[in-house]
Order: sequence, then structure tokens, then C-alpha cells
Amino acid sequence: MNVHEYQGKEILRKYGVTTPRGIPCFSVDEAMAAAEELGGNVWVVKAQIHAGGRGKGGGVKVATNKEQLREYADAILGMQLVTPQTGPEGKLVNRLYIEEGADIADELYVGALVDRETQKVVLMCSSEGGMDIEEVAEATPEKILKIFVDPTTGLDRAEAKDVCAKIGIPDVAIEEGADFLEGLYQAFVASDASLAEINPLVVTGDNRVVALDAKFNIDSNALYRQEEIVAYRDLTEEDANEIEASKWGLSYISLDGNIGCLVNGAGLAMATMDIIQLYGGEPANFLDVGGGANKEQVTEAFKIMLANPKVEGILVNIFGGIMQCDVIAEGIVAAAKEVGLSVPLVVRLEGTNVKQGRAILDQSDVKLQTATTMADAAEKIAAAVKA
Ligand code: GDP
Ligand code: MN
Repeated sequence: MNVHEYQGKEILRKYGVTTPRGIPCFSVDEAMAAAEELGGNVWVVKAQIHAGGRGKGGGVKVATNKEQLREYADAILGMQLVTPQTGPEGKLVNRLYIEEGADIADELYVGALVDRETQKVVLMCSSEGGMDIEEVAEATPEKILKIFVDPTTGLDRAEAKDVCAKIGIPDVAIEEGADFLEGLYQAFVASDASLAEINPLVVTGDNRVVALDAKFNIDSNALYRQEEIVAYRDLTEEDANEIEASKWGLSYISLDGNIGCLVNGAGLAMATMDIIQLYGGEPANFLDVGGGANKEQVTEAFKIMLANPKVEGILVNIFGGIMQCDVIAEGIVAAAKEVGLSVPLVVRLEGTNVKQGRAILDQSDVKLQTATTMADAAEKIAAAVKA
């Protein structure tokens, strides 16, 4: 799960990481009031969307007077912000963050993530802040320094100070820099993050070490114990089909293709997507109905796929183990009755109660093609959507 920048900064502050003061807003009036409350004479207007690169797309503006602030807030709120991470269609901005301006002397980079190889949290630190870190990693990998944190002893203070010095934090701010890394590490672990990225971390003119941006990805499997983070969820940022699917306990991920897939088991779902591609098709989604799905869940899964205007065909690939083929068949028939089946459907059923399942489909008036093997199924659906 992603959170907004201002929410990431709230997490960071809890662990002693310094951030500029700021106030989230939903209207121009709120933005004006926020600037009043923050005081000073420089404010930064920041679009809050779940994507980075906002600065490049015109979603981050520094205002040096109130008229400018009004102008920027008005322009950014409601804009369709296009950044290198949003895709060409961009993202609608419906909240802003108004921050006090920072006096930037130097822009650095710090990110925390899990290193699979060492099974440790790694802090990636670089002098090259404010730019695309993937580019830095590509062109000048030596400019990224890594601190692997031993989970039993925590962040090594001496190592943290050494890296702070190497990325350009001035001597007078080294202790503060080490505190910053410690706070970031604590925030990362405590929030069950999979990524926490501060780009840029800035050294100010008066040598303070401050998080100017914050990007957090939270491990969705840990949300059951992250009540405060769940409250940060912004449904307007999420795919409507995925939200609907999660209400019904379905594992569903939207993709760009035109073949809807309904499968049981994540492994079979992956294999199904692969074989669709092998036969020249493009999956429209990943959907694992799981082992214990009931007729209602299968019906809902069908409705979600059929509601997607990109879907031009549906492939059902079920290997009945715990899942029973007749339950799937009943779901298909119920969904076809409720919403009408407007696209070609190919069904491959094998395993538990397969005879009952096939009989239910045969006796219904649902128009479909049956398939025996996975390859047969993929070939048929790929041909049907091309036709
Ligand atoms: P991103 O483009 O989505 O990564 O958004 P950031 O929060 O990183 O902002 C982009 C850039 O705007 C930063 O790298 C800074 O150079 C600039 N910026 C952000 N906040 C301030 C500020 O308070 N003062 C000034 N002068 N520039 C800022
Ligand atoms: Mn940034």
C-alpha cells in the first residue's frame, strides 16, 4: 500500500526525523489558511498523488507571496498531473500539501529497503539527491553507499556517521545526520515498510538535516497490525476494480491487456497469464479466486471483469483441488444471468467435481467454448479476441 508524502512525513516525525512543517489541504481556501498558519514568506505547494517525479510535471511550486500561492494552489488542485511515473493519462490532484519553504544548501538521497540477498534492511545513501536514483545507480553506482543493518544490534552509529560524512553532510551536522538515519530505520521497521525513500534529504543553510520528500510503500501483508497506516489509505488513488475485488476477498490486479482471466491459485494464475501471452494474447488482469471461493465470489469476479471495457474475452482456468468445479460453473451461470455475457468465454475445468461442473455449463444457455488443456484454452481465447 502507498501513502501520500505528507503521511510519510507524519510517520517520520514520530521517529524523530526532521521535516518541514506543513498542512494538507483540499481547497484553495484551505491552502491560503494553511500558509497563514505556517507563517513566513515562502511556501511550497505540493501535489499529493501516489507517484513521484511531481516536480518535473509541475506539481511542486515554490511561492514567495500570497498571490502566487493562490495561483499555484488553484492551478495544481484539479490538474491531471503527468509525471514519469503516472503514465501518459496522469493523475487527478485532489489534495495539496502546503509546506514552509526550506533554505536548501545541498540535496542528498537516502532510501531504506529490504535486501533479499542479505535478508537485512539496507540504507542506500547518496550525495546525488533530487534526481532519479535509478539513473544514479546506472551511471555512477559508486555514488550509492549502502549500510546493511543487523536486525539484532540495529544501526551501527559509527558506520552511519561515516556514510553521512561521505555523502556530504558537513561535520557540524554529522550527529544530526546519524540521528536522521536512525529515525528513518526505526520508522521503516515500525511501519512494516517495504520502501522508505527520502529524495531529497536536504542540508539547510544553517546545517540542519531535513526530509524534504517522503515516499513510503507499506507491506500489504502487515496491514492487519498497522491500524494507523490503514487509516491513511486513499481509495481515489487505487484501481476501482481492485478495490471492488478486495471487498469480496479476491486477489485481483489490473493489467493492460484484453483477456480477463479467472483462475484458482496464484501459481496457476501466473502460468495462465504466461500461456495467454505465448499464444499472442494479453491478459487484462491477474485474478486468483483462491481455494475456498463460493458462488457469490465467482459471480462478483465475473462482474468485475465484464465491467472492464478493455475486456474482449474471458478465460476461466480452474484446477479443482479444494475448489470445486461445480461452484465455479454455478458462478459463471449466475454472473451471465445477472450481467449478460457480452464477450467470448473459454472454460477449462479439471479436478474435483469436474463432471458436475461441465453438466451445469452444458445445461445452461451460457455461450462458451470448452477447452481440455491449458494450451488449448489459451489458443482458443487468443483466437476469439482477435476474431
Ligand atoms: P518529487 O518531484 O515528486 O520527487 O517531489 P519533491 O518533494 O522531491 O520535490 C521536487 C523538488 O522540488 C525537490 O527536489 C526540490 O528541489 C524542490 N523543492 C521541494 N521543496 C522545496 C522547498 O521547500 N524549497 C525549495 N527551494 N525547493 C523545494
Ligand atoms: Mn522527490
